[in-house]
Amino acid sequence: MYELVMWLETHVRVKSKTKMFCSCKNAVELAGEPNENTCPVCMWFPGMLPVLNEEIVNLAVRAGLAMKCTVNKISNFDRKSYFYPDLPAGYQITQLYHPIVEHGEVKTFVNGELKTFHIHRMHIENDAGKLVHAGSKTLCDYNRAWSPLMEIVTEPDFRSKEDVIAYLEELQKIMRFCWASDADMEKWQLRCDVNISLRKPGETEFRNRVEIKNLNSFASISRAIDTEYKRQAKIYDAGGKIDQETRWWNDEKWVSSPLRSKEDAMDYRYFPEPDLPPLVLTDEYIEARKIDELPIDRRLKYLNEYKLQEDDARILSNEKNISDYFEQIVKLTSDPKKSCSYITTVLLAHFKESDDNVSFDSLKFDIEQLASVINLVNKNELSSTNAKVVIEELFMNWWKTNEIIERLWLKQTNDMWALEEIVKKVIENNSTQVEQYKAWNEKLFWFFVWQAMKESKWAWNPKIFNDLFKKYL
Ligand SMILES: [Zn+2]
Repeated sequence: MYELVMWLETHVRVKSKTKMFCSCKNAVELAGEPNENTCPVCMWFPGMLPVLNEEIVNLAVRAGLAMKCTVNKISNFDRKSYFYPDLPAGYQITQLYHPIVEHGEVKTFVNGELKTFHIHRMHIENDAGKLVHAGSKTLCDYNRAWSPLMEIVTEPDFRSKEDVIAYLEELQKIMRFCWASDADMEKWQLRCDVNISLRKPGETEFRNRVEIKNLNSFASISRAIDTEYKRQAKIYDAGGKIDQETRWWNDEKWVSSPLRSKEDAMDYRYFPEPDLPPLVLTDEYIEARKIDELPIDRRLKYLNEYKLQEDDARILSNEKNISDYFEQIVKLTSDPKKSCSYITTVLLAHFKESDDNVSFDSLKFDIEQLASVINLVNKNELSSTNAKVVIEELFMNWWKTNEIIERLWLKQTNDMWALEEIVKKVIENNSTQVEQYKAWNEKLFWFFVWQAMKESKWAWNPKIFNDLFKKYL
């Protein structure tokens, strides 16, 4: 038995409107024609100079703060030189020595246990273009060239594939919460290299690690970790040793193959980028980009403070638009439990059943209308059955809650005299059941409530009948 020790290097595509150093659209997935989004700057024509896009700094600082990192007030760009046809400049602009943010953490649940994974650093850098192999020819598409990336490097805190997946899922949520990226793995907005080493339990030193590249889904990450564990364990069991190397994962064959060893690691001749000044940020700039609550903070609040079920807390904190909607409803109703139930059982169910792609962003009614439904239910002025009718109408019409209640005669009458009359009538008409109830059958209580509801044509709240029967029986 060996202990797995892993750390991750994750590239996240920044969701900025334009590229990192020019004004071309940063629309990697949308770009239609090859080389449509290019200009003399990102094609690196002679004499062109890069100008840093402020929006990328803004989003990277937000993402860094969301990962509880320290934002460096001064960071620098460095030139990483290498030749490849997808890189017209012959170098990448990155941040080797002084990254924009460092030393943070990401908290998340792994199999029900709250864990913390530490962030070593995050820097910003540009992406390269894309090579398309067509028969014996290779074509270059530079739509992606100079589009911005954040590279997030963790500490060696990961001990299982479950740790890795849970961290990456939380990272996706964080990126979406701070608008920095959609972090969709299928669209290559998030990709991850896993560094894997093994050691005997109790060992304190780390052994040589192997970096696995080309992992583009949670499933392939999981398979690659299993496979690499077995490969290294077999070598150690046979008395061999592991060389530090980079391996390429083949997800069709479920095997990895060596890409390069430590010996043939490239010399990138890093040096400070002469075309860009140091990036200097003020305290005010950093302060203004702080995020009040992270997805995990909200999840913990829903569990501990609002006492919601674990599943509900997870659903309501997963996506920013759902979570923001819930937060607003709670502000308007002061009733987290009922707000949760109306969102998860009524709204989300409606979205699921509906054909026309409705979501929180395309609702026809204001949030105040739903809040007022919940408040009326809480004041016993609307039965929960009728509340569902009102919400269905809200989905379909432009009417407001109070208009619907008035037009459809849904208002609950709390005229106690009329209600007492109904209760008395039910008791009078069911004398046999009353005797049975009093003698031995307490379950009949609900029969009386049911009869009264029927008598009142379901317009009144069962809670009121409940109380009245307690009094009269
Ligand atoms: Zn450009």
